[in-house]
Amino acid sequence: MAKTTKRHCALCGREEAEVGLMLQGLQGCVCGDCVERSYEVLQEAGVATPVRKKAAQPDINLGQVPKPREMKEYLDQYVIGQDTAKRYLSVSVYNHYKRLAQETASGREVNDADIEKSNIIMVGATGTGKTLLARTIAHLLDVPFSIVDATVFTEAGYVGEDVESILSRLLQAADYDVARAQRGIVFIDEIDKIARKSDNPSITRDVSGEGVQQGLLKLLEGSVVNVPPKGGRKHPDQDYVQVDTRNILFICGGAFDGIEARIAQRLNMHTIGYDNVRQAKRIDPKNLMRYIDPTDLKSFGLIPEIIGRLPVLTYLQPLDREALHRILTEPRNSLVKQYEKLFAMDGVTLTFAPEALDFVVDKAVEYKLGARGLRSIMESIMTDAMFEMPSSGKNTFEVTADYARREYERNGHEVA
Ligand code: ADP
Repeated sequence: MAKTTKRHCALCGREEAEVGLMLQGLQGCVCGDCVERSYEVLQEAGVATPVRKKAAQPDINLGQVPKPREMKEYLDQYVIGQDTAKRYLSVSVYNHYKRLAQETASGREVNDADIEKSNIIMVGATGTGKTLLARTIAHLLDVPFSIVDATVFTEAGYVGEDVESILSRLLQAADYDVARAQRGIVFIDEIDKIARKSDNPSITRDVSGEGVQQGLLKLLEGSVVNVPPKGGRKHPDQDYVQVDTRNILFICGGAFDGIEARIAQRLNMHTIGYDNVRQAKRIDPKNLMRYIDPTDLKSFGLIPEIIGRLPVLTYLQPLDREALHRILTEPRNSLVKQYEKLFAMDGVTLTFAPEALDFVVDKAVEYKLGARGLRSIMESIMTDAMFEMPSSGKNTFEVTADYARREYERNGHEVA
């Protein structure tokens, strides 16, 4: 009679029918539960890298994803102006979800059109809201979101961080839930700083430029990458987490200083000739950014492959006085609202005279930091009042233009 060979787990003794998975070794078997428990023990003992549980990917229900118009309305509550960028961003993010839905849809036809990834690049001066847009949309969508600065990356083998560490931060933001991280959003700031230094491919190595772009390309294209969970540089003894970047949305931002001159050049605005004069008339020279196209990015020094992987190109307008004014008061968490709340917590009603806000805007314009300067200007004006008011026993406080000027001159220093 043939001997029945029931497999038992060498650790817990249960037989195959009782466990989900049985791993066969040379001398015996171990069940999946015991492997999992052993891994936890190793983690507790500090000899294994924390968590890499493969959470089941929940199906995307497109009906629950906000529509582009709703996304823009949400962005409008926090970000002033920048309508074009908001529309582009909303559409690409929505399409990104459609793409995820396509990946999980069960009844998908084999010959269905593949929706390609729609990574985004936003061009606009510093402090115009690029990061704020990316951060706000991530907040609405409740997906892991991380911001990285392209300037810290260098080509493998040089001092600096490896490009893969971009994903380490996303993993951290996702609490090391790989499945969640794989659907996250990464904002890569200062992408212009890794532009090739000259338009011609150089024979000497360009440590901070092209090599990094090549490394980045791999992530943008969508591939499985070994990620050092704690970031930094890779080294041979380290444990890696494998992350698939296919469904990660990359949003890049950069100021691309001087790109307007390149746009103007391309538009041939300086050439004389009947046709050009006619064309030049239609061009608004004060807003050259709206004519930006991928060739301008190439002439700035981004390699064509990277540009190809950032198919959605949009721009942010410089912020004028009116926009800066609105930024001070209108967004849901505007600076004025924040100070009012701080004072209200001490029972003080705070008001700003319109001329005081004009003064703040004047200073911000002077510093040419976009809205980025507003916060520190306000802080230098408000610090003394925040120091005195809680113990003054008063219940109202008005910031007049004179007060603002006086305080600013007394405390105002480097604004950055
Ligand atoms: P960028 O990434 O373009 O350099 P940020 O988005 O980091 O600029 O903006 C810096 C700060 O300025 C933000 O935290 C926000 O408070 C403010 N800000 C910039 N642009 C806007 C805007 N369009 N609407 C509202 N606030 C803005």
